[in-house]
Amino acid sequence: MSDFNPERALAEAHREFGEHGGVCPSIERSSTFTVIDPHTMPEIFEGIRGPEAGGCFLYSRHFNPTVDVLGRYLAAIESTEAAICTASGMAAISCTLLQLAGHGQHIVASNTVYGGTHALLDELLPHMGITTTFVDPSDTDAFEAAIRPETRVLYTEVLANPTLKVADIRALAGIAHRHGCRLVVDNTFSPVMVTPARLGADVVIHSLTKFVNGASDVLGGVICASREFIHRLVDLHTGRVMLLGPTMDPRVAFDVLQRLPHLPIRMREHSRRALAIAERLERLGAPVLYPGLTSHSGHERLRGMLNPGYGFGGMLALDCGTIERAERTLAVLQNEEHFGLIAVSLGYFDTLMSCSGSSTSSEIAPEKQARMGLSPGLLRVAVGYTGDLDDRLSQIEHGLRTVGIIC
Ligand code: PLP
Repeated sequence: MSDFNPERALAEAHREFGEHGGVCPSIERSSTFTVIDPHTMPEIFEGIRGPEAGGCFLYSRHFNPTVDVLGRYLAAIESTEAAICTASGMAAISCTLLQLAGHGQHIVASNTVYGGTHALLDELLPHMGITTTFVDPSDTDAFEAAIRPETRVLYTEVLANPTLKVADIRALAGIAHRHGCRLVVDNTFSPVMVTPARLGADVVIHSLTKFVNGASDVLGGVICASREFIHRLVDLHTGRVMLLGPTMDPRVAFDVLQRLPHLPIRMREHSRRALAIAERLERLGAPVLYPGLTSHSGHERLRGMLNPGYGFGGMLALDCGTIERAERTLAVLQNEEHFGLIAVSLGYFDTLMSCSGSSTSSEIAPEKQARMGLSPGLLRVAVGYTGDLDDRLSQIEHGLRTVGIIC
């Protein structure tokens, strides 16, 4: 287990109060900022002055004070020097990869990543001369074997979406650094539970759309890394965030800021309920995958990376075998049992359920899905925390009996 305490790190981060002493930070909505002395303007453009040197702001695509507060808090939670927020998780992933790899260069990536990330690596980046070799995220040696002289990045999710395989972040960081590469980790499924930068990751990404915001009402992303890398992303000449422009809106930043303080409490409850459901289903003989179960292949590896006190996360998977059976299960669980909602995404207070192969992983060809161990009938369940837990356990048990997944 790790000894990092993200709650303490957040509490110790410089606190931002509102303009009039309000307990909430103010929202700085300006797109552009004025200066007293005209000489200041060229100095900002030359990088002599800026948000950190002299507190001067220029233009909100470059730096916005409210978005910057959220970045500072997320950097504290992720134990990195700095962070920059983006309009979505995909913006964070694509800007990071385009900053780290260029034409003729190569990435080694987990074969079990979110479908949009897979499409970016497999279908879009090759048009820009960047190629990817995909490997099993739990097979550390496979990452090393796939590295070539032109490899610049190793990329993985901590908990693979949706198969929940566990990547060994410490070992991957060691391999990346031995070969002069950067390790980029998507920590969307495991905020506060795992702190990849503490384990050696160079860049940590989140889709804030999920657990971090927790209300399924905004889209957002973040890139957490060294101050030097964050500055490169907003460089006026080559910064991928600055020039591709996927900036976070300050009103969105404010919404996420208001939910960040209860992220640790929410993660504990997501984890507590997911474990209770997984244990019940396992006892009943259902084909359930949950990294908190000792039967899960990645249980010990994840345990070795966890910050104490947040459990094993809110994501579990249930293999219904075929897509028809998975769809019948979804219909029963939503429309008859009221156990959860048929919807993609995760981290909401209600339980969200989807059949990954035909939804969030549908960008991945069926034969590749088979190779990554994704059954067409795999239901991804993002366990929420509304309702009484005993009622929820009865609902899922009854629903699975109705469709014959348990007898
Ligand atoms: N990373 C993971 C693990 C995801 O599940 C998703 C979206 O589902 C993303 C990244 C992309 O995030 P966004 O939808 O905010 O662009």
